[in-house]
Amino acid sequence: MKIIINNCVNIILLIAMLASFQSSGQGIEKVVKSDSEWKSILTPEQYYVTRENGTELAFSGEYDHFYKEGSYICINCGNLLFDSESKFDSGSGWPSYFEPAKEQSVDIIEDRLFGMVGKEIVCAKCNAHLGHVFEDGPKPAGLRYCVNSVALSFTRLNKKK
Ligand SMILES: [Zn+2]
Repeated sequence: MKIIINNCVNIILLIAMLASFQSSGQGIEKVVKSDSEWKSILTPEQYYVTRENGTELAFSGEYDHFYKEGSYICINCGNLLFDSESKFDSGSGWPSYFEPAKEQSVDIIEDRLFGMVGKEIVCAKCNAHLGHVFEDGPKPAGLRYCVNSVALSFTRLNKKK
């Protein structure tokens, strides 16, 4: 959203707009903690992957070949991220999903940390690094959300129940 402010009326409109956006419930309540707070609640591997954009070894994660029915929540904040219905075996060595549980579950950001332009998946609530999204997934969306097991926690509770 690009907003150019050139007079007071626009500023007032902008404030009104932001206020209504916050109260409409569309904005997700963010979970913000300091690095030392995250370190105190996460294992070193969880911290490395989710807070330092790390990647677990392929085929090493506990959810790579795991197909129980349920949901996957963020290991950092408990936000619902993915459902078992959208999980598939991509053969990549990481848990793969063709869509997030809800459109607003995750944010997609450009990732330049690996010296290439890819699309990083982060938790929409706490900005935890989850993995990357690729455009070689199954139809119709053709997307593959490639996620580190370490960033996830499986729960049998399903959003539809
Ligand atoms: Zn989170």
